[in-house]
Amino acid sequence: MSDCIFCKIAAGEIPSNKVYEDDKMVAFKDLEPAAPVHVLLVPKTHADNVMAAEPALVGYMLGKAAEIAEKLGIKESGFRLIINTGKDGGQTVQHLHIHLIGGKAMGWPPF
Ligand code: 5GP
Ligand code: ZN
Repeated sequence: MSDCIFCKIAAGEIPSNKVYEDDKMVAFKDLEPAAPVHVLLVPKTHADNVMAAEPALVGYMLGKAAEIAEKLGIKESGFRLIINTGKDGGQTVQHLHIHLIGGKAMGWPPF
Protein backbone atom coordinates (compact mmCIF):
# COMPACT_ATOMS: atom_id res chain seq x y z
CA MET A 1 0.00 0.00 0.00
CA SER A 2 1.52 3.25 -1.15
CA ASP A 3 0.55 5.36 1.87
CA CYS A 4 1.21 2.76 4.56
CA ILE A 5 3.94 3.80 7.00
CA PHE A 6 4.95 0.24 7.91
CA CYS A 7 5.17 -0.76 4.24
CA LYS A 8 7.57 2.16 3.80
CA ILE A 9 9.61 1.22 6.87
CA ALA A 10 9.71 -2.43 5.76
CA ALA A 11 10.92 -1.33 2.32
CA GLY A 12 13.57 0.94 3.84
CA GLU A 13 11.94 4.07 2.38
CA ILE A 14 11.48 5.54 5.87
CA PRO A 15 14.32 5.10 8.36
CA SER A 16 13.88 2.92 11.42
CA ASN A 17 16.05 1.34 14.06
CA LYS A 18 16.06 -2.23 12.71
CA VAL A 19 17.09 -5.11 14.94
CA TYR A 20 16.25 -7.91 12.47
CA GLU A 21 15.45 -8.34 8.79
CA ASP A 22 14.92 -11.19 6.37
CA ASP A 23 13.02 -11.72 3.12
CA LYS A 24 9.62 -11.95 4.88
CA MET A 25 9.76 -9.44 7.73
CA VAL A 26 11.55 -6.73 9.63
CA ALA A 27 11.74 -5.91 13.34
CA PHE A 28 12.48 -2.37 14.48
CA LYS A 29 12.35 -0.34 17.68
CA ASP A 30 9.03 1.30 18.53
CA LEU A 31 9.09 5.09 18.31
CA GLU A 32 7.42 5.37 21.72
CA PRO A 33 8.70 2.40 23.72
CA ALA A 34 6.39 1.13 26.47
CA ALA A 35 9.25 -0.75 28.17
CA PRO A 36 13.08 -0.96 28.04
CA VAL A 37 12.72 -3.38 25.10
CA HIS A 38 9.92 -2.65 22.64
CA VAL A 39 10.21 -3.72 19.03
CA LEU A 40 7.64 -4.24 16.30
CA LEU A 41 7.68 -7.30 14.06
CA VAL A 42 6.25 -6.36 10.67
CA PRO A 43 5.73 -8.46 7.52
CA LYS A 44 7.09 -7.06 4.27
CA THR A 45 3.80 -7.82 2.51
CA HIS A 46 0.90 -5.61 3.51
CA ALA A 47 -1.95 -7.05 5.58
CA ASP A 48 -4.35 -4.73 7.42
CA ASN A 49 -4.35 -6.87 10.54
CA VAL A 50 -3.75 -10.40 11.87
CA MET A 51 -7.05 -11.65 10.40
CA ALA A 52 -6.05 -10.57 6.89
CA ALA A 53 -2.60 -12.16 7.01
CA GLU A 54 -1.60 -15.67 5.95
CA PRO A 55 -1.62 -17.85 9.09
CA ALA A 56 1.69 -19.39 8.03
CA LEU A 57 3.27 -15.93 7.91
CA VAL A 58 1.94 -15.11 11.38
CA GLY A 59 3.38 -18.40 12.64
CA TYR A 60 6.70 -17.63 11.01
CA MET A 61 6.81 -14.24 12.73
CA LEU A 62 5.93 -15.75 16.10
CA GLY A 63 8.81 -18.18 15.68
CA LYS A 64 11.15 -15.31 14.91
CA ALA A 65 9.93 -13.43 18.00
CA ALA A 66 11.69 -15.92 20.26
CA GLU A 67 14.85 -15.61 18.20
CA ILE A 68 14.73 -11.81 18.37
CA ALA A 69 14.00 -11.92 22.12
CA GLU A 70 17.15 -13.97 22.58
CA LYS A 71 19.16 -11.53 20.46
CA LEU A 72 17.85 -8.64 22.58
CA GLY A 73 18.69 -10.42 25.84
CA ILE A 74 15.15 -10.92 27.17
CA LYS A 75 14.57 -14.60 26.40
CA GLU A 76 15.41 -15.78 29.93
CA SER A 77 13.70 -12.94 31.82
CA GLY A 78 10.56 -13.19 29.70
CA PHE A 79 8.61 -10.97 27.40
CA ARG A 80 5.17 -10.22 26.04
CA LEU A 81 3.85 -10.50 22.48
CA ILE A 82 0.86 -8.32 21.62
CA ILE A 83 -1.17 -8.00 18.43
CA ASN A 84 -3.58 -5.10 18.78
CA THR A 85 -6.46 -5.62 16.37
CA GLY A 86 -9.18 -3.16 15.37
CA LYS A 87 -10.66 -0.23 17.25
CA ASP A 88 -11.27 -1.84 20.63
CA GLY A 89 -7.94 -3.63 20.35
CA GLY A 90 -6.18 -0.28 20.17
CA GLN A 91 -4.70 -0.79 16.70
CA THR A 92 -3.45 2.56 15.40
CA VAL A 93 -1.35 1.44 12.41
CA GLN A 94 -3.34 -0.61 9.90
CA HIS A 95 -0.49 -2.93 8.89
CA LEU A 96 -0.06 -6.14 10.90
CA HIS A 97 2.56 -5.82 13.62
CA ILE A 98 3.50 -7.88 16.64
CA HIS A 99 4.73 -5.94 19.66
CA LEU A 100 7.65 -7.66 21.43
CA ILE A 101 7.95 -6.05 24.85
CA GLY A 102 10.23 -6.83 27.77
CA GLY A 103 13.06 -5.73 29.98
CA LYS A 104 10.83 -5.15 33.03
CA ALA A 105 8.20 -7.02 35.02
CA MET A 106 4.71 -6.34 33.66
CA GLY A 107 1.35 -6.60 35.39
CA TRP A 108 -1.76 -8.41 34.26
CA PRO A 109 -4.40 -7.50 33.20
CA PRO A 110 -2.90 -4.62 31.22
CA PHE A 111 -6.20 -2.71 30.82
P1 5GP B 1 -0.65 -0.23 17.58
O1 5GP B 1 -1.29 0.74 18.55
O2 5GP B 1 -1.20 -0.03 16.18
O3 5GP B 1 -0.69 -1.65 18.02
O4 5GP B 1 0.87 0.12 17.58
C1 5GP B 1 1.50 0.98 16.69
C2 5GP B 1 2.86 1.25 17.24
O5 5GP B 1 3.65 1.78 16.20
C3 5GP B 1 2.88 2.25 18.41
O6 5GP B 1 3.50 1.64 19.54
C4 5GP B 1 3.71 3.41 17.86
O7 5GP B 1 4.56 3.97 18.84
C5 5GP B 1 4.50 2.77 16.73
N1 5GP B 1 4.80 3.64 15.62
C6 5GP B 1 3.92 4.43 14.93
N2 5GP B 1 4.54 5.05 13.93
C7 5GP B 1 5.84 4.67 13.98
C8 5GP B 1 6.99 4.98 13.19
O8 5GP B 1 6.94 5.76 12.24
N3 5GP B 1 8.17 4.39 13.55
C9 5GP B 1 8.26 3.53 14.60
N4 5GP B 1 9.46 3.00 14.85
N5 5GP B 1 7.20 3.20 15.35
C10 5GP B 1 6.01 3.77 15.06
ZN1 ZN C 1 1.48 -1.74 4.85
